[in-house]
Amino acid sequence: MQEVRQKSASLQDMQFLSKTHVKSSTLPVECYVCGKGLRDGHSITAKTLPNAIMLFCDVHYPLQ
Ligand SMILES: [Zn+2]
Repeated sequence: MQEVRQKSASLQDMQFLSKTHVKSSTLPVECYVCGKGLRDGHSITAKTLPNAIMLFCDVHYPLQ
């Protein structure tokens, strides 16, 4: 049973890492400003604000 759990965990990690480097599975990975995401060829970066975590694409991240 322990072996099964380890396999499952590592598979999830690999899928998670290949999809996004943003550590959130609840938020959609898309730019807060323009709505573009990884599927549009943009890299998304999370920025931690005092009251929230916002995601920005490579275009809008430097502007914030
Ligand atoms: Zn954007």
